[in-house]
This record gives sequence, C-alpha cells and structure tokens, in this order.
Amino acid sequence: MKRIFSHVRLLKPVIPMLALTLCISSCKEEKKTETAATEPATTIEKPAALPTVHPISHATAVLEWDGTTIYIDPVGEASAFDAYPAPDLILVTDIHGDHFSPETLSALDTGSARLIVPEAVAKQMRNPLAEKAEILPNGSETEAFGLTVTAIPMYNLREEALDFHAKGRGNGYVLEKDGTRVYFSGDTEDIPEMRNLEAIDMAFVCMNLPFTMTVESAADAVLDFAPRQVYPYHYRGRPDVSDVNRFGEMVRAGNPDIEVVQLDWYPGEAY
Ligand SMILES: [Zn+2]
Repeated sequence: MKRIFSHVRLLKPVIPMLALTLCISSCKEEKKTETAATEPATTIEKPAALPTVHPISHATAVLEWDGTTIYIDPVGEASAFDAYPAPDLILVTDIHGDHFSPETLSALDTGSARLIVPEAVAKQMRNPLAEKAEILPNGSETEAFGLTVTAIPMYNLREEALDFHAKGRGNGYVLEKDGTRVYFSGDTEDIPEMRNLEAIDMAFVCMNLPFTMTVESAADAVLDFAPRQVYPYHYRGRPDVSDVNRFGEMVRAGNPDIEVVQLDWYPGEAY
C-alpha cells in the first residue's frame, strides 16, 4: 500500500469560493452584454460535462466521465460490470461487504486501474491488491486522470449507531473535474462535513437505518448543501424507514431547484 496524499487540508474555505462565484457571474454578465451589443451569439456556452452514471446495486456504481471509467465500491458478481469498460479508477469507501469485496476486485480487470481506499480497507487486502492500494485519509486529496479526488469523512452520529461507522475509518468522496463536482456519501449520517459541502453538481446520498440515517436526516442535510442534483442510493431496508419517495418529496418541498434523480439501484427488487 502507498500513501498518496501530499498534504492534509480541510474543506475549501467558503469565502474564496463565494468570491470566485461572484467573479465568474459578473464576468459572464459583462461578456453577455458585450456580445449582444456587437454581434449575435454564434455559440451556446456548454455546461460542464456531468459523468454518465450506471447504478450496479445498492452502493455500487460505474461512472463514465470524459473517457475515464470509475468504479465506486465494486462488490458482487464481476459479470455485473461486463457491459462497461475496465476501470481506470476504483474508489472504495469502507470495510463492509456492501462496499468492499476482495473477491470482486480480484475478479475484475484492474491491471491498469488506480485503487484509492481508506487505510482500514488497505489493511484488509492481500497482495497483489494491497500493493496496488493507495491510501487517502479523510480530508486529503489526490489527482487521478484529470480528476481531483477528495476524501470526505463518513460516520454515525446517533449514540446507538456509533459502532457502525467510526469517524476517520471510511471515506466519502468528492470527484472534481473542470469545476464539476460529484459527491458519494458512503455510509454516514448528516454530518457537518456533508452539510458544509460547496457547489456539488451530483450528490449520491445514503439513507437506511440502522446503519446510516433516516430519509428525514438525509433530506435535511441535502437542503443544507443544496446540490444541483441528488441521487438517493444505499437505501435498502424497511420501506417504511427508507422511503425514497418521501425523501424526494421533502427535498422538492424544501428547494424545488434541487433535482431528485431516482435510479434503479435494486434491479429486480421491489424498491
Ligand atoms: Zn453500506
């Protein structure tokens, strides 16, 4: 295993982000006025590209982003990934079987992949996976395939749930490319590090008891950091507890500008 981060830092300071946003908005505004005064616009500003997301199951996904293929928490039958290119980048969030499977990783074509994991996951690997693993601790970042990968804490807050996910062990991740930011929560409750996220375009947020949080907590946190899109995932559990429809209603009622996107995370199951 290798330690890949060059420095530890906290989340981005809010003020410089705001200043940058204001500067970008005002610059865009000026440019628009200028163009309108001289000649008709011939091009439409292209929004930053979002990755294409393929849900595999529960917490497992494949992202295709500008030619880079990213596997998030690959577990289960390797054949579930047959339809997708081999991974360039693999991110694992935590040690539990619904996020980390040495068997699945060994069965996949990881020959040219980078494998980014928390230390607790690396410690459970044997070679050749162990020597491939790159450790990224909470709050650190690294570059991979033109993406900045930042490890975000993930942990439980409720007294009775503290043992499920101890603070510091697992990683949520923010992936950033050309200003587009994608967040995978991993298994967590509505922690301040989630609520303080800035400028997230796509947010994948878990919700199930007893392991993570209620749909109410998830919706409340999402309304706080207000991503452009939110994708409920990791909601396997009692439907009366993990009611994703209710999550969507609460988010839309609180902020209709947030798009709630429901993907099929449990193919063949009644969710
Ligand atoms: Zn989980």
